[in-house]
Amino acid sequence: MHGTTTRIQEFIGDPVSDAPVMPREDLEEIFGDIQKDLRFDHELNGCLNCGICTATCPAAHYYDFSPREIVQLLWTENLEGVYDAMQEKIWSCAQCYTCAARCPFGNSPGGLIMIMREVAIKHGMQSAKDVLRPFSRVMLKLISTGNQLAPNMITPDHFRDWGPNISKVDAPLKLLRAAIPMPTLNTIETAWEVNLKTSVELYTIWEMTGVLGQLETIDENLFDVITDIMDEKRDDYDDWLEDQKDQDDE
Ligand code: SF4
Ligand code: SF4
Repeated sequence: MHGTTTRIQEFIGDPVSDAPVMPREDLEEIFGDIQKDLRFDHELNGCLNCGICTATCPAAHYYDFSPREIVQLLWTENLEGVYDAMQEKIWSCAQCYTCAARCPFGNSPGGLIMIMREVAIKHGMQSAKDVLRPFSRVMLKLISTGNQLAPNMITPDHFRDWGPNISKVDAPLKLLRAAIPMPTLNTIETAWEVNLKTSVELYTIWEMTGVLGQLETIDENLFDVITDIMDEKRDDYDDWLEDQKDQDDE
């Protein structure tokens, strides 16, 4: 545990320029959403501006990106800087948390960036839409089957953006799959089978926790497709329950 007091305050102090990219109240709302997150207080305890996080950050070696800069923007409540970083820079982080292991203040720059990403999604920022669009197939697979990436999706056609090395995983999947001993894994349509009851429970969790609401903000078409799939599975589950009841009555 780090500090016991809270940094959350009524007034956000940083001045913004005379002609901010967005009205000050919108910038404050975005910053306030970041600051209100339960993790924020734990993951930002101060900042020496020492740069250890950036020196050990793999993403900083390849992109115009510095966790030190992001933490400084948050620590100094630089509303415009935070908003600007949410347009591109926050999406460079690999979420490896090397920075969190090294920071002498016990900060987690990677964790703070995760909060900023979630707030970018909540506010339907274009950067979030652009970054998440290529993952819509994965999202559809995950929500419709209860599984993440299925082996039959790991093909050059599905992941052209992975570059030439993707061809190395173009393998005889049916054969390889059959070689795995557990029968439930012998499928290439899904990573493993998820039964109807579990699927319906997962839908409820995604609804109640706001995941589907976030999806609607980011990709309305995908949300519609997924809603149809969910309705269908819920109907199937209700029918299955009815069948069970009829059988018990007999
Ligand atoms: S979690 Fe992100 S910011 Fe931290 S070291 Fe890894 S890539 Fe860099
Ligand atoms: S390592 Fe910690 S204290 Fe140093 S710049 Fe990064 S966040 Fe700030």
